[in-house]
This record gives sequence, C-alpha cells and structure tokens, in this order.
Amino acid sequence: MKYCPNPECPHLIRRAAPAEFLDRAKQCNDCGAPLVSRETLGTADAGRVVAEWNDTQERVRATSHPYRDASQAQDRSAAARRLDIATGIVLLVLSVGLFFGSYALSLASNRGAMVIAVGPFIYGIVRLGRGLASRE
Ligand SMILES: [Zn+2]
Repeated sequence: MKYCPNPECPHLIRRAAPAEFLDRAKQCNDCGAPLVSRETLGTADAGRVVAEWNDTQERVRATSHPYRDASQAQDRSAAARRLDIATGIVLLVLSVGLFFGSYALSLASNRGAMVIAVGPFIYGIVRLGRGLASRE
C-alpha cells in the first residue's frame, strides 16, 4: 500500500486518515500529491516529498496562469482585436452585399422587395470600430 503524505489532502481532512492506494498508483486521486510508503508516512522524508511537490505546483501555476504573463495577455488581446476587425468587415460586406444584391434582384424582378440587414450592419460597425480603436 502507498499513502498520500499531503497534510492538506481533501481525503485526509474528510476522513481523518491518509488516502490509501495500490502500489502501482503514482499520485493521490484527491490532491495529486506523489504517494509514499507506509514507513515514510509522517516522517521528514514525506514532508520533503510534499514540499517539493508544492514547489512544482507553484511553478506550474505561475507559468500557466493566463493573467500573470503579460506577453500572453497581449497576444490574447491582439487576437481579440483581429477577430473584432475580421468580424466587422465580414458583417459589413455581408449586409452591404445583401442590400445591393436584393436591390438588384428587386429591379430585375420588378418587385419591391429589398432586404436591409440593419442589425448585422450596425454590429459590424461596432465590432470594426472596437477592433480599430483598441489598436495602439
Ligand atoms: Zn492526497
């Protein structure tokens, strides 16, 4: 049997006993800490295992946290800006195309049915404006 050495393990807090695992298990299911043997449990070695694991956890959080890394945040807003501009242009082209297309069709068919896509047109302008305005 192997045991979870983490003193903050949810299993330990819930059951007042360290989580038990089969020997082939590598990590605690509850907290993800590396497992130790029965003999190691509660010793300084177990404390060291948990401390090392906490260190790597901190590093993982620090490097993968989306808002800590400034360059990542800038990449994201640049992508959002490109999306704004692209969406705006597509919507404007579509709504203007729809307008003239239906206008031409109504002339050809002699029936006064014209499509004015006001919603997409305005939304397109808003998205395009937002994308261009946030450009530095
Ligand atoms: Zn655990």
